Amino acid sequence: MTYPMEKGLRERAARVIPGGMYGHQAVGALPEGYPQFFARAEGAWLWDADGNLLLDLMCAYGPQLFGYGNAKIDRAYVDQMATGDAMTGPSPLMVDLAEKMVSTIRHADWAMFCKNGSDATTMALMTARAHTGKNGVVRARGAYHGSQPWANPRPRGIAPGDKAEQHFCDYNDVASLEAAVATAGKNLAAIFAAPYRHDVFVDQTQPDAAYARRARELADETGALLIVDDVRAGFRMARDCSWSLVGVQPDLSCWGKAIANGHPISALVGADKARGAAETIYATGSFWFAAAAMAASLATLEQIHSTDYLERIILMGERLRSGFDKHARRHGFTLRQTGPAQMPLILFENDADMRLGYHWCSRMVAHGVYVHPWHNMFLSAAMTDENIDFALAAAEESFRELEQAAPTLGPNTRYPGPKRG
Ligand code: PMP
Repeated sequence: MTYPMEKGLRERAARVIPGGMYGHQAVGALPEGYPQFFARAEGAWLWDADGNLLLDLMCAYGPQLFGYGNAKIDRAYVDQMATGDAMTGPSPLMVDLAEKMVSTIRHADWAMFCKNGSDATTMALMTARAHTGKNGVVRARGAYHGSQPWANPRPRGIAPGDKAEQHFCDYNDVASLEAAVATAGKNLAAIFAAPYRHDVFVDQTQPDAAYARRARELADETGALLIVDDVRAGFRMARDCSWSLVGVQPDLSCWGKAIANGHPISALVGADKARGAAETIYATGSFWFAAAAMAASLATLEQIHSTDYLERIILMGERLRSGFDKHARRHGFTLRQTGPAQMPLILFENDADMRLGYHWCSRMVAHGVYVHPWHNMFLSAAMTDENIDFALAAAEESFRELEQAAPTLGPNTRYPGPKRG
């Protein structure tokens, strides 16, 4: 197969874009054959720049909850664009949307809107610091909370002071959570929590209810705020904050990605207790109050409440999981499939440098299914049972090809992650 458009775009991009592409959507560390550029998307499908069709199990890294180009959501967006978008002040839709978020998310009494998940997590941190008058943060090692300097996972360009006063624990480990809180001592502002462990490269784990409850107690004992970062998992786990599933209500939660089905908006929501502090922080941006994304978010929330999208993506995810497992075993491979079925991560047993995973993913893309070797994937409500069958047929063929290629696969030089057993 040849990819003339992709090749030309990469050459041009290398001249005018640092690294040719940067950030989480750069494909340099992905297996051979992943397109960097996409020309079009519709429903559950992507077309790359050369016109190849791919069933997209990444959903734009989360935002596509109801699929690309959902008619009602995009109609709301386009109509609002024609009416008024980024104006000198917000549209009345901002009040409608804040009311809707507050009535949807049980712990929330107020909402603030911004653009990216990193805006929401950083505002959460500022609100907690303003509320407590303290600076310390406890968070889990390896958990991602955005690209702002305080949370950025890479060292380049970050001053040590940007990360000062952070104390790390291991997710789901109560003793290490208690130890991190003890290290922060009297200086604790916030305990951050991912809704479940969805770190890259490693098996995903559901939250232990005892860990979530202890985080709540420790926040109450110290006066710190408990923050759930629901940017990635929000509304794919529950029609509420994801920790509602373990019966724990945070003080603040952060939202982004899926809340407007791909249109640019994120949110920080909070309990009354933190309202005073939220009123005092300076938080703003040129495009934060634009109305079209708010209209899209209202239309998304309407479908969240009126459809069985959640039950359907869980069922499809379970079918995908058991089918992948069956096909892998038939060809002699053992998979570690973790995370919620609707946000699956697939790793191979005995694959320290992911050479098996990379080859399988390459074959999946060649057979028209976009999968990720080390980041959790996402299902959308635009997917159908036929799409799941299509993915399973591609998987069967890809496992067969992997079985043939496995004995000759050399070291995987592209794999960027930690060594695994
Ligand atoms: N928190 C979590 C849990 C995320 O997954 C992400 C994005 N992957 C962020 C925060 C940051 O969101 P954004 O990239 O929209 O700034």
